[in-house]
Amino acid sequence: MNSPTLSQGNSLASRDVKSLIHSYTNLSAHEKEGPLIIETGKGIYVYDDNGKEYIEGLAGLWCTSFGFGEQELIDAAIRQMHKLPYYHSFASKSTEPGILLAEKLLEIAPGNLSKVFFANSGSEANDTVVKLVWYYNNSRGLPKKKKIISRQKAYHGVTVAAASMTGLPPLHNDFDLPIQNILHTSCPHYYRFGKDGESEEDFATRMATELEELILREGPDTVAAFIAEPVMGAGGVIVPPKGYFQKIQAVLKKYDVLMVADEVICGFGRTGNMWGSETLGIQPDILSCAKALSSAYLPIAAVLVSEDIFRGMVKQSEKHGAFAHGYTYSGHPVPAAVALRTLELMEERNMVEHVQAIAPLFEKRFQALADHPLVGEVRVCGLVGAVELVADKATRQSFDPSLGLAANAVKAMQDAGLIARAVAGDNVALCPPLIITEDQINDMFDKFEQGLNAVLPLAQ
Ligand code: PLP
Repeated sequence: MNSPTLSQGNSLASRDVKSLIHSYTNLSAHEKEGPLIIETGKGIYVYDDNGKEYIEGLAGLWCTSFGFGEQELIDAAIRQMHKLPYYHSFASKSTEPGILLAEKLLEIAPGNLSKVFFANSGSEANDTVVKLVWYYNNSRGLPKKKKIISRQKAYHGVTVAAASMTGLPPLHNDFDLPIQNILHTSCPHYYRFGKDGESEEDFATRMATELEELILREGPDTVAAFIAEPVMGAGGVIVPPKGYFQKIQAVLKKYDVLMVADEVICGFGRTGNMWGSETLGIQPDILSCAKALSSAYLPIAAVLVSEDIFRGMVKQSEKHGAFAHGYTYSGHPVPAAVALRTLELMEERNMVEHVQAIAPLFEKRFQALADHPLVGEVRVCGLVGAVELVADKATRQSFDPSLGLAANAVKAMQDAGLIARAVAGDNVALCPPLIITEDQINDMFDKFEQGLNAVLPLAQ
């Protein structure tokens, strides 16, 4: 069905269809249906070009932690724009915001991370991780130790190496991915992959055993790193069973395999601690982050590495004359200034404590949806969660994908004034701005339920 504005030749919607390629969009449906044009935002709300209000239940793409229109962040950008609108970090050049942000990140980082490299997106950060792992193992005289193990259903981005590590088939199909040296082990989703009679703890043990078997099959001298989101986001908000990462890390240690934490969604308070690594018990050798680092107001990402890895990089740069990697915008002073202010605001406003205070209501409202006729499983951690819609609660049978049940539910939620997201099949996720209040949480879940109820007839 054509949207009314699409048939008006000069409307923004029709100009969009004529000119813009949309990410993660059914391009054919988009040509017929056109875009939802968001014009303004304030707090947890965004407004379309007709003035309709929506709760941004996914904080954009799991990222606008301070919501929309935070004056402090806008001011930080303007101040830095006036002072120095651009400079780079090649050939020993530096800027104050980059230095201060690196220091701040190391101050709050988990474990023993000791140096920071800046990129512009989560994908770039994770592509950098792959190169650093290879560079490091070459510096150690281990040229065969290059394979990186990710997980089915993981999401690590869309650039060539990051998309290869992503464990979702649509990111590989017809893109000729994954590249070599990237492997995927089992997804720690107990509800879907736990066996009859297997406890969660036994399931976690099996996940670690399967990882170990994969390492042994490939040869430990060929396996360099394991990468994981503490809580999988785009794969369906999958919270691993208790003890999972402890068991996994024991295997990694045994075979000298680096632990990489992808904190692109989980970082900066999302799971109720500053880092998902704290919540899930991960001690990373490398950590990538982005998104809420600047509350997404400007693009910036970071890779944090241990001193050991950095020393390997120093050795390589002595050998080759330079560490030959970096982006034009690595450490760009304007996003760096906004990110620094974001991290300061997190402290000034006790953002982590705020998340801890409101997360129980978020969880309670989510768990109440377990009784909804369409919901098979509820998964929540801090202020991120999802429901999995199933055709049969007892057998856990999924709906026929051609029904597009989650996508239709999300459309109905949008009509009700809530932007949620269908992820990895029939899962509907919420990941609101961290500034959300209890009243707003209740309002958000009322609209969420309205959306689920609206698709009940489709499920008959
Ligand atoms: N890693 C995780 C866990 C993500 O969720 C994402 C994006 O959603 C990425 C990496 C890629 O980030 P970007 O879209 O900024 O490239």
